[in-house]
Amino acid sequence: MMSERPDRSKRRRPRLKHLPVRTCVACGARDLKRTFVRIVRAPDGVLAIDPTGKRSGRGAYLCRRFSCWQRAAATDVLERALRVPVPPEFREELLRWADLHIRREEPPANDTVLN
Ligand SMILES: [Zn+2]
Repeated sequence: MMSERPDRSKRRRPRLKHLPVRTCVACGARDLKRTFVRIVRAPDGVLAIDPTGKRSGRGAYLCRRFSCWQRAAATDVLERALRVPVPPEFREELLRWADLHIRREEPPANDTVLN
């Protein structure tokens, strides 16, 4: 008797190359990991902006929209994602980083800011 079982092991792999997808904690957009900027909470609890995405620690992601960085600085989205208080200095750092690295191409959309 021949057991001709379909080779199921092969099906478990997605055919497309696996690309890591992340979600922006500010706007909820999903995109490839490399299009986002990682915010990391180091093992010692210190927050840092981690553009290389390689630091160890718990990470949260922000997309490259200025409004998302403003929102991250002004709200508790990062606190919720990283489960650590976000000090005012780090909020300022977020804005500084955004100022330096993100072009404000879009006019400030009047989207309702969630508290
Ligand atoms: Zn976003």
